[in-house]
Amino acid sequence: MRDNATTAQLQDLDAAHHLHPFTNARDLNARGARVITRGDGIYLHDSEGNKILDGMSGLWCVSVGHGREDIIAPIADQMRELTYYNTFFNTTHPSVARLGALLTEVTPPQFTHFHFTGSGSEANDTIFRMVRYYWSLLGKPERTIFIGRRNGYHGSTVAAASLGGFAGMHKQGGLPIPGVYHAPAPSWWADGGDLSPAEFGLKIARETLALIDGIGADRVAAMIGEPIMGAGGVIIPPETYWPALTSGLKDRGILFISDEVICGFGRTGEWFGCEYMGTEPDFLTMAKGITSGYVPMGAVAVSDRVASVLLEKGGEFFHGFTYSGHPAACAAALANITILRDEGLVDRVKTDIGPYLQEKWRALADHPMVGEAVMVGLIGAIQLTSNKETRADFPEVASVGLSARDFALENGLVMRAVGDRLIIAPPFTMTHAEADELIDTTRKVIDLTYDRARRMGLIH
Ligand SMILES: *Cc1c(COP(=O)(O)O)cnc(C)c1O
Repeated sequence: MRDNATTAQLQDLDAAHHLHPFTNARDLNARGARVITRGDGIYLHDSEGNKILDGMSGLWCVSVGHGREDIIAPIADQMRELTYYNTFFNTTHPSVARLGALLTEVTPPQFTHFHFTGSGSEANDTIFRMVRYYWSLLGKPERTIFIGRRNGYHGSTVAAASLGGFAGMHKQGGLPIPGVYHAPAPSWWADGGDLSPAEFGLKIARETLALIDGIGADRVAAMIGEPIMGAGGVIIPPETYWPALTSGLKDRGILFISDEVICGFGRTGEWFGCEYMGTEPDFLTMAKGITSGYVPMGAVAVSDRVASVLLEKGGEFFHGFTYSGHPAACAAALANITILRDEGLVDRVKTDIGPYLQEKWRALADHPMVGEAVMVGLIGAIQLTSNKETRADFPEVASVGLSARDFALENGLVMRAVGDRLIIAPPFTMTHAEADELIDTTRKVIDLTYDRARRMGLIH
């Protein structure tokens, strides 16, 4: 939809009426929101005529790129045929029935049943209730406790934000709700000290299991984790971490939920992050990449072990959303997953564009300000530091990460800053030339940030 208003007019309307998510409204309104008007492949265009490389795939979701007719047309066809009907009360529709079957093909073998939601947050709130229902059906209603992780992100609804480990979110609104505990994150850069990554991964796994044993393992219902923490700063855990942790969970009979909202649908070069990490979850949380963001959708994959209990012992599960299995979202997911599969995009991440970008990205670690430059598939981070040897942080007031993010935007690249970690997750369709552009701009951004930090006397 073309809009002929000027940037300033749109910014004024926005400042007057729009309360943004995860935004300090006063700061935003003082400078005015950037108005994005068009998306095309891996590029965004703003109202001032700037072309910007979308290094974050929107918000980790636009895996196949912006503006694809082969997703838009099926959505439009679906809308003309059946715009909306619910999936409550003994009804279904063709697209939602087909989507469950397609998800069965692409998810790990233990998953053949799916529950649909409108978002990742709703999916995690659904799992929270479903897990407790499962344990009560098995005659173990005392298994109610959930284990999340500090700096994990699982969404913004009440249960999802409680499962997540963001202190700032918890402070607002009296979270977490009772019955949720947080284990340490496997952040080697921040907390690994003198340990090797492998030793550190085992240490955090052991500490997590000790936390569980302290609570009483037979009271713990489930643990949730992202294979690679996304919003927490693209924390790629040491190889030792997930195998040691999940085998300890299995020994204790505790369910494992792999939050695949970011890692799912190819981001790591495997269809799901749990496959990359070698874990066997009981639930998958899905959203974002399931539709490449074309229409909002979330889903819960329920393992046969859990589904069989719900189906055989359970009655009606009093839970659902008006838009569970919305026809337009299902059409978008069907088209998107078919593209991922038929164009071999997951394999492209694993064997072509992933390794191509990774090699150049890791080489950025030779910069004096870069402590580590890591990437799996097409999800990566650069840690900025004032001292590579001591892994020293910059003072928070210096806003080094934020200044880098702003330099990036000024130079036509969206990346995100989490503290002083710069993170990217570009679309899978990116060409080699576009990858070169991303790397060249990133190097320029780091140089500009380094100059600023030196002028501020922050480099030792
Ligand atoms: C974004 C995200 C969510 C929440 O999804 P929404 O669709 O924003 O509710 C949950 N888990 C992870 C890992 C995410 O990145």
